[in-house]
Amino acid sequence: MANTDGVLIHPAVDNGIRQTDPNFSGGVLSCLCSSNPVKVRVGAQTAHNHVCGCTKCWKPEGAVFSQIAVVSRDAVEVLENGDKLEIVNAEAPIQRHRCRDCGVHMYGRIENTGHPFYGLDFVHTELSPEEGWSAPEFAAFVSSVIESGVDPSRMDGIRARLRELGLHPYDTLSPPLMDAIAAHVAKTSGVTSRAAAQEEKPDTRHDGQATAESESRETASASAPPPPPAASGSIIGRLLNRLLGGSR
Ligand SMILES: [Zn+2]
Ligand SMILES: [Zn+2]
Repeated sequence: MANTDGVLIHPAVDNGIRQTDPNFSGGVLSCLCSSNPVKVRVGAQTAHNHVCGCTKCWKPEGAVFSQIAVVSRDAVEVLENGDKLEIVNAEAPIQRHRCRDCGVHMYGRIENTGHPFYGLDFVHTELSPEEGWSAPEFAAFVSSVIESGVDPSRMDGIRARLRELGLHPYDTLSPPLMDAIAAHVAKTSGVTSRAAAQEEKPDTRHDGQATAESESRETASASAPPPPPAASGSIIGRLLNRLLGGSR
């Protein structure tokens, strides 16, 4: 077991994780500006809260990970100083709305209605003084912290600390979120109905990625337009790239 002494992840988890309040129903996020802060109401409990190692999510000063959750976009409302918001990258699958002055991301929104996570906004609940938000459940894109400058030799300690906190380290997203993406892809490519009508092929079932690759090839060969030339990396990796833009 790697030494986890002094390994810091994010201020919201380093001193123990606050439990979810089952009766919690939302709060108001504030950016870090000392005057005229941007305020955004999140009028519902969040879900899938997690710490994220990607290079795109906003992180508090000095933190190795961000902490981010999703909530229905209908529940998100800009209350004050919305004129200070700007979109970090309008071309990115997730449009992150940040405060121009302090740089804090107030919410990330998906405008592509075909996106598996369309309808969900990404929010950093640590920006709210209220307590009871959904607790972080796992760690996503853990290996990506190396891209933001963490020495690879620290990864054993970081993963061990995440496990100690009960935040299982994944190098993409958690299985439920990966399954949601895969189910969306299967549905939009017609795989679900076709697979249900066919017998399982045990030789392609030994790992999820091989299954996704082979089913995607089968679907592609069964439909008219030829598939684009295969890029490097796994199909899930390419998909994540397209959906989330870079590590996220
Ligand atoms: Zn600000
Ligand atoms: Zn992220």
